[in-house]
Amino acid sequence: MKIVRIETFMVPPRWLFCRIETDDGTVGWGEPVVEGRAEVVRAAVDVLAEYLIGQDPLRIQDHWQVLSKGGFYRDGPVLGSAVAGIDQALWDIAGKTYDAPVHALLGGPVRDRVRVYAWVGGDEPAELADAIAEQVEAGFTAVKMNASGIVSPIATSAEVDAVVQRAAAAREALGPGRDFAVDCHGRFTPATARRVLPELAPFRPLFVEEPVLPEHHPALASLTALSAVPLATGERIYGRAGFLPVLQSGIAVVQPDLSHAGGISEVTRIASLADTFGALLAPHCPLGPIALAASLQVGFATPNLLIQEQSRGIHYNKDADLLSYVLDTEPFRFVDGHAVRNQLPGLGVTVDEHAVRAADRIGHSWRNPVWRHDDGSLAEW
Ligand SMILES: [Mg+2]
Repeated sequence: MKIVRIETFMVPPRWLFCRIETDDGTVGWGEPVVEGRAEVVRAAVDVLAEYLIGQDPLRIQDHWQVLSKGGFYRDGPVLGSAVAGIDQALWDIAGKTYDAPVHALLGGPVRDRVRVYAWVGGDEPAELADAIAEQVEAGFTAVKMNASGIVSPIATSAEVDAVVQRAAAAREALGPGRDFAVDCHGRFTPATARRVLPELAPFRPLFVEEPVLPEHHPALASLTALSAVPLATGERIYGRAGFLPVLQSGIAVVQPDLSHAGGISEVTRIASLADTFGALLAPHCPLGPIALAASLQVGFATPNLLIQEQSRGIHYNKDADLLSYVLDTEPFRFVDGHAVRNQLPGLGVTVDEHAVRAADRIGHSWRNPVWRHDDGSLAEW
């Protein structure tokens, strides 16, 4: 079997899909994207495709090595994401070739369902209670929200209070039996994180995500020592080597993105590395159905999985949502807040190719907002 065609599709709301076809007509799908830089990743996929055309798609490990390490200059979000989407598509082809779900090829299932969480925004404590009630009604047992909007370099007393009020409102709305996670989105300086984390501890969040920016990861060791709040990070880390120091800092949860961190091949290695530290896997996935399907396949086969993110109804999903490009929505029907394992071959996602080709003709130009402080200087988004 040989790879004969590799195509990419830029589809709303902000995604890039990759379709790999073989000479026997097998098709695999992947989702290689960096949010806000989809065109750049598309160009990277085109460059990597030069090597793959004519190759045996089943040599996934070897292709991963060549695509990730065969170039003298390597790593980073663009290449990591291009490789990730191609890797997902190759695993999809492998599963379809062997008529097995990817989790079976990864060693078989270790669980029958994967707990997923829902996004609840969190800009106003009053709205938060309503948003949480809606998700609890829909069966979810865990939600995630933003910690804050723009935060001063050293958070003011009012800004700290606003973060704490959100956590209090979430705990009150959820009761003791359900979970909430807080995403700081790298908006805090280390000084602000030190100020805020101890105040969140009484509300027992499941985890607090990206308390500081990746470039400030050396501060994580002091933060894990300071507070009992489980810390999570990793959506902006692109391979094993980047996860090692944060694990050594004592974080509780690693959050590689299946579409950024080298795909199924590398995320399973990251999960194993995390396991040696007693840390848990919670893949980042505010993306589309192929990235989620790939994440779930890893989740079904990974012992130290904590929970899975998913994007249904997330604020980014304007003009299209998680189910807009799939023919069979059943794999994405959550039961009691869980995705249920099935035996569909490959990634288990049935892409609506007609809808994808039509959406690609519209395309998108999604960019994240640029925020500024009151004094006009750049703020973290
Ligand atoms: Mg995040």
